[in-house]
Amino acid sequence: NYPDIATPLRTQAIMNQYGINTKKSLGQNFLTDLNILKNIVLAGNVTKDDNVIEIGPGIGALTEQLARAAKEVVAFEIDERLISVLGDTLSPYDNIKIINQDILKVDLMSAVQENFTDPSAPLKIVANLPYYITTPILMQILESGIEVDAIVVMMQKEVADRLAAEPGTKEYGSLSLTVQYRVQARVAFYVDRTSFIPNPNVDSAIVVLEPREPLEILPDNEQRLFKLFKIGFAMRRKTLWNNLTTAFGKNGGMQDKLLDALEISKINPKIRAEKLTLEEFITLQNALTEVGV
Ligand code: SAM
Repeated sequence: NYPDIATPLRTQAIMNQYGINTKKSLGQNFLTDLNILKNIVLAGNVTKDDNVIEIGPGIGALTEQLARAAKEVVAFEIDERLISVLGDTLSPYDNIKIINQDILKVDLMSAVQENFTDPSAPLKIVANLPYYITTPILMQILESGIEVDAIVVMMQKEVADRLAAEPGTKEYGSLSLTVQYRVQARVAFYVDRTSFIPNPNVDSAIVVLEPREPLEILPDNEQRLFKLFKIGFAMRRKTLWNNLTTAFGKNGGMQDKLLDALEISKINPKIRAEKLTLEEFITLQNALTEVGV
C-alpha cells in the first residue's frame, strides 16, 4: 500500500521536488481530493476487467486510483516535463503505460490495438480534462468509432450542464443534441474549485457518457443534421422559422419548401428550437431532404 499522490501536501511536495509550475495554457489543475478521485472511479464502475484510457494524467493522482481498480491504464500526457515525474510517482504500478502525446493527434482505434495487452477487454475513458479542449476531445472520442463502455470526464460545470440538458431548458442546445445523438449523458456530481492545486476559476462537474438506446428514427445525413442543430439555435430567442429562413433563404420558393418540411414533420414554425427533441430534429432533417432543401 503506497501513499496517495492526491493529498494537498504530497501534490505540493512533488511539484516542489521537480520544480513544476503549472501551465494555465495546458489546463493544469491537479486534483487533491482523494474522495473525489475515488468517486470518479466509482462513477465509471471501473473493475479489473477494464482497460482504461486516461487523458492528461498530470502528476498521476487519478492514474494511480485507476491503476488500482482497472486491468490496465494507458494515459496520454502532452507536457514533456511531467513524463519523468509520472515515471517516479507511478513506479509502484505495473499496469500503467504513459504516452507523451497530444491526445488530439492520437488515432484512438490504433492506440487501443497497440497499447493494451488485451485490446478486446471492455474499454473506459476516464479523465480530468484540460478545460480548453473539452469539446474537441469529446467529439474526437465520439467520432473515432471505438467502442467505449463508459466515458467519465471532469469538465467545467457550465459545459457539463449543456451536455446533459433536456429540451425546454436554457442549457439545451446544439452541443446537447450532438452529444446525445451518440450517447446518453448525465452529470454524476459537481466539484468545487477548492479541490485543485491551483484552484481553477470555474466550478466543475463529472459527466458520465454511456451507450444510448437505439434511436427510433435515423437521419439521412449526419453532417446535415449536425448543421441543422446549429441553424436551429443560431439565434436562441428567435423562432425556428426565423432561424430556418435566415439559414436557407427568404424567397417565396424556399419559404414554401420550408413550410412543407415543417408540415411533414408536424412541427409548428413558431416554436423555438429549444422545444424540439432530438427525434423531431431528425424528422425535420429528413423532411428537408424530401422537399429538396
Ligand atoms: N489528471 C490530473 C489530475 O486530475 O490531477 C491532471 C488533470 S489537468 C486538469 C489536465 C492535464 O491534461 C494536464 O496534465 C495537462 O498537461 C494535460 N493536457 C493538456 N492538453 C493536453 C493534450 N492536448 N493532450 C494530452 N494531455 C493534455
